[in-house]
Amino acid sequence: MPTIVIIGAGPAGMRAAETISRAGLVPILIDEAPRAGGQGYRTPASGISIDTHKLMGSQSKKYQQLHHDFLSIVSSIDYRPETLVWAIENNTLFTLSHNTIATIQFDCLIVASGATDRVYPMPGWTLPGVFTLGGMQLSLKDQGCAIGKKVVLFGSSPLLPLVALQYKNLGVEIAAICDTTGFAGKISALPSMVFSPGTFLRGLSYLASLTLSRTPLFFGVKPLSIEGDHRVRGIRFLTGSGQEKWIECDGVGLGYGLKPETQIADLAGAVFEPDEDLGLWLPRMDQDGRAGKNLYLAGDGAAIGGADAAEASGKLAALAALSSLGVYCDAKQQTRLQNTVRRLRAFQRGLARAFAPPQQFAETLADETVICRCEAIHAGTIRKALALSHTPPEMNRVKAITRCGMGRCQGRMCAPALQAMIIHHANQSLAQTGRLRGQAPIKPIPLSAAGETAP
Ligand SMILES: Cc1cc2nc3c(=O)[nH]c(=O)nc-3n(C[C@H](O)[C@H](O)[C@H](O)COP(=O)(O)OP(=O)(O)OC[C@H]3O[C@@H](n4cnc5c(N)ncnc54)[C@H](O)[C@@H]3O)c2cc1C
Repeated sequence: MPTIVIIGAGPAGMRAAETISRAGLVPILIDEAPRAGGQGYRTPASGISIDTHKLMGSQSKKYQQLHHDFLSIVSSIDYRPETLVWAIENNTLFTLSHNTIATIQFDCLIVASGATDRVYPMPGWTLPGVFTLGGMQLSLKDQGCAIGKKVVLFGSSPLLPLVALQYKNLGVEIAAICDTTGFAGKISALPSMVFSPGTFLRGLSYLASLTLSRTPLFFGVKPLSIEGDHRVRGIRFLTGSGQEKWIECDGVGLGYGLKPETQIADLAGAVFEPDEDLGLWLPRMDQDGRAGKNLYLAGDGAAIGGADAAEASGKLAALAALSSLGVYCDAKQQTRLQNTVRRLRAFQRGLARAFAPPQQFAETLADETVICRCEAIHAGTIRKALALSHTPPEMNRVKAITRCGMGRCQGRMCAPALQAMIIHHANQSLAQTGRLRGQAPIKPIPLSAAGETAP
């Protein structure tokens, strides 16, 4: 029997596993998290009582259905939670589970590794009490706790109103929502909203309930600083009309949308192309998610599409993998799934335009601001390196000179900021700027576990 491995037990990976299992095969489903569900449909840690129905709101039915369907097949697949994939070489995965390194040879690989927050630093963003918007949600969904009692949400992301409401419903005061994008960008994205009118209306209803509950909403703001001594005391910014504003709070959620988590796909040999519109390097794939010989990509790790697209693309990648192994697949079902995925990703592309990251970021950032937290590299150090460069700067070269992106997170956190600074300095395209190449181990592994099996 061929070994089919799926990395990621979010909605994409769960549906891929279900599809393969229903075809009579036994996929290996790997996830570093202890429970299935991924980011959006995360299940709370055991012993934590959260009203998931209330937390998931209108998504609650889909959440329950997904977990119900997964429960019905989990005993017939090889499900390996708490297992990190940290390297891939020649059809071999290197995993870490409970301090033990193991290898898995695969015939076919489906990567459903999800997304990461896109963050642009501002002075004070490393203070305790500052979280990414996604991190804010995880603390709620996983542990049932909030990041503060009085919180400001700052950035440009469709998660701003969603997370604000989730926190509000649990009794947290939302001191303000500060959106760095203005209305003009949102209006220009309106035509793409027809691709998923239900989601669009849901977003509008979130904004309406926040307005009705008199939550302070600011649009077109510019970041100045997050301030505090040992933890956040407040945030300073310029309003859309240019007035300086200070808001006291004990927690800040910061985020500028999501970016696909592509390091695994990179190690597995996917080819990447620059998407100048989104400011992202994305893996090249066909409409089924096929990205190479026996390599398939699904969910937000392939292209941001949201949870529904993740489920559909997970099934699609599984069907493509099955047909490559000679298993009969219903062509009509494949076409339906392709249309769903295409439509939902077009919708998300429109949303990404409506919540575009701030253009002025690289220009206005103070030299003392930390860009790379892992290696403590400041904006001024990067600027100096760029000024000394005799050739057009490239991401990996600047990384080698400054160590920005060389630490524990392997650039997951700082790459967007580094990229924006290079593009601004050299006035060049994303294609010319390049991308940080994926390097194993993509996440830290303890030295006590690293042995002769490490590549
Ligand atoms: C922090 C965060 C919060 C979000 N909250 C919401 C929300 O509330 N509502 C909403 O509609 N959408 C939300 N989204 C968007 C949401 O991620 C997607 O719509 C949906 O969950 C995508 O599903 P997926 O299966 O592609 O990826 P995910 O659900 O992200 O699942 C990916 C899985 O892959 C695993 N993984 C990744 N790399 C490895 C590795 N190297 N080894 C082992 N396992 C690995 C991860 O642990 C994760 O469980 C959120 C996204 C993020 C990043």
